[in-house]
Amino acid sequence: MKIIMASLQQESNSLCPKPSRTEDFERLYGADILTQLWPAEEVFREAGAEMIPLTFAHAVPGGTLEKESFLFLLGELLAALPLPCEADGIWLYLHGALNVEEIGSGELAILKALRERVGFDIPIAVAMDFHANLPVQIAEYANLICGYKTAPHSDMEATEALAAKGLVKMIRAGALTRPAMVKIPMMLSGDMVLTAEEPMCRVMKRAAEIAARPGILDATVFSGQSWVDAPHSGACVSVTALDEKEDALGFAEELARLFWDVRKEFRFRVPAGDAPEMLKLLSAESEGPVFLSDSGDNTTAGAAGDRTELLSAVLSLGIENILVAGITDAPFVRAFQGKPVGTVLTLPLGGTLSDSGQSIEVTAELLHCSNILSWDGLDGGPSVLVRIGTADVIVCERRCSIVSPEIIASAGADIYQYHLVVVKLGYLYPELAEVAKKAAIAFTSGTSCVAIERIPFQKINRPMYPMDPETDF
Ligand SMILES: [Zn+2]
Repeated sequence: MKIIMASLQQESNSLCPKPSRTEDFERLYGADILTQLWPAEEVFREAGAEMIPLTFAHAVPGGTLEKESFLFLLGELLAALPLPCEADGIWLYLHGALNVEEIGSGELAILKALRERVGFDIPIAVAMDFHANLPVQIAEYANLICGYKTAPHSDMEATEALAAKGLVKMIRAGALTRPAMVKIPMMLSGDMVLTAEEPMCRVMKRAAEIAARPGILDATVFSGQSWVDAPHSGACVSVTALDEKEDALGFAEELARLFWDVRKEFRFRVPAGDAPEMLKLLSAESEGPVFLSDSGDNTTAGAAGDRTELLSAVLSLGIENILVAGITDAPFVRAFQGKPVGTVLTLPLGGTLSDSGQSIEVTAELLHCSNILSWDGLDGGPSVLVRIGTADVIVCERRCSIVSPEIIASAGADIYQYHLVVVKLGYLYPELAEVAKKAAIAFTSGTSCVAIERIPFQKINRPMYPMDPETDF
């Protein structure tokens, strides 16, 4: 059994004014990609399959990907594809919310390009994120689409393995399955859709029951990524049956209906409000660390991560024992590079990426210089830890997503030394949630605004809930 493997991922935020480019991607080639794709590799190794690894390109979420950059990354993938293709299957790890300038869904474009070269007689299995925005046509090009079942995501590896196992089953059965896909006219703020909490856990429980049926390869409910202004944005369900007697479409419709019916029950699970109010609330907590999300500048949702609104609020309130993790500002980091600890500089901070009027003048003392870890454990580029007034601040040269204590440690800060930690996230990722004594969400301005009904969408399908409250489904 020969299996082709590749991964090309970025979660887009089309509201972000700065487009994403090739240089934003961590790229690996050939056998090196298996170090990142080990969950699938294990499955294929156990199945005795020969693996043909192509390319791996992942970026932190960001603005719409430039067409030229996408074609370059796709070109690298296709150039590595052996032709004529004698493989028995193709396994892909994509995101599902990659938005490409002039092209639209990056995932659909990748699958179409592969089919043009390998035809339709070879099964393709895809692992994706829970926040995928999928055009229904994608089901014509992929034989299996598996998504994460958790948000915050804790089953990425399990999903990669699930798609790999499904592919092996299809190959052994000589089957070319077709996912049954149902779109739901609904966009939800990702920070409200937590799979372990009601009402979503009810929907996920039913999806798990369906997925556990022996004749079903997978049943995934996708929540969608609401900061992408595209016709295919929104929630959907994908169910794939290996056994033709299973009613995949019936199950997909049932899950879509269930998800739709609970739409009005979604709420924030932690206190949420304006920044000063949330800062005061968390400061009054007796035990730390407590976490405040700068939700409008959430880099995991593709925002630039260069805004200083929350830092300004912290400084004006004079809050002590606080870490701001972190702000992206390349010139700021370069100004401190090579300088000794204790160096004090007065310079601008913030607003370098989004031209958002967020640049402020600060006096900063250098505490630590290092390279921060990226969110997938690779090199995230140079960073500095500085003290500005009462706050310690991590500033990164490249956009970063600080989702774990380990990443904070790589920037030279000890999370347990602080009472309050500000993060550019929505909900807390599991490793931070584990250490958080309390968390809250600040409604800051920016391109990942959580009040999605206020976003001036131009291209989404209408009617769409909650922008059109009377939407029918
Ligand atoms: Zn996601």
